[in-house]
Amino acid sequence: MDAWIIYSKSTIEKKIKSGEIEKTKKYAKDNFNIDVDVISSHDFFISCEKGFNKIYYKGKEIKVLPKIVIFRKYDIYLARQLELMGVKVMNSTQAMIDARNKMKTYQVLANKGISTPKTLYIVSGIKKKCFYYDQVCKFFNNNKFILKYTYGSQGKYVHLITCEKEFNEAIKKYEGICIFQEYIESSFGKDIRCYVIGGKFIGAAIRQSAGDDFRSNLARGGHALKFDYNDKVAKLAVDASNAFNLDICGVDILFKGNDEYTVCEVNALPGFKSLRATTGKRGSIVLLELIKDTLKEL
Ligand code: ADP
Ligand code: MG
Repeated sequence: MDAWIIYSKSTIEKKIKSGEIEKTKKYAKDNFNIDVDVISSHDFFISCEKGFNKIYYKGKEIKVLPKIVIFRKYDIYLARQLELMGVKVMNSTQAMIDARNKMKTYQVLANKGISTPKTLYIVSGIKKKCFYYDQVCKFFNNNKFILKYTYGSQGKYVHLITCEKEFNEAIKKYEGICIFQEYIESSFGKDIRCYVIGGKFIGAAIRQSAGDDFRSNLARGGHALKFDYNDKVAKLAVDASNAFNLDICGVDILFKGNDEYTVCEVNALPGFKSLRATTGKRGSIVLLELIKDTLKEL
């Protein structure tokens, strides 16, 4: 077996029903002569004892592992076990851990000199210390700013704070596990979703929000529009992805006006809907091409 692509149990069930798994396997064999299996993360056991790290799938120990494993539903322990056993895991466990945490993301981006909105984290924890409101407004020189749950996704846990009541409510909701960020008003309701695969820029789309939502996530009703990207945007996306050594990366970029851009987030498990809608490229083919290219380098 050359590679596994691992999804969540519910996604695998949908893919079995739609016949997509067989199609992907056949496409891989017919077009690239590679053997790929598409499986659920749910059926694994992993064990460790002195000198032995083992992996079991559906109750049976796996003696011969694939060369590459792509995760589309992350499990840190399974990924780490595979890496320890010599498998090339994409994205790597470390890259995944770094990109999953929003504060870590902004720390890495800023440290590499990549443009990102000014971000603030309150070290002592802010569970009951809502009196920080004035200081946060002062830091941004604005009483409008963004508050994000540190581990959020799909726009669900991102808020535009405009008063102390909203600030207190959001902090209570996330028990202080959140960051504050400069509000990039010029990007209201839209951003650029870029795809960087194997370190290469492969496409981008504008995501436009539904109604008057400042967040442009498709999961919140936004839609994807064609985008004539320029080199500046492509370079920013590639730099952001490379800062984390991500193999599969969706970079969200905000418009700062005057042809200036800033990185809103790096996604290590990007959905491919925007890419498909604007360029016709299918996520499954993008992943198979990545496997084919990576096999050559191993
Ligand atoms: P998630 O992981 O939930 O997608 P993001 O940080 O990508 O979180 O934020 C979701 C959306 O909210 C972005 O796509 C963008 O439209 C908007 N957004 C996020 N941060 C800012 C910001 N600092 N200024 C303006 N809009 C923002
Ligand atoms: Mg996002």
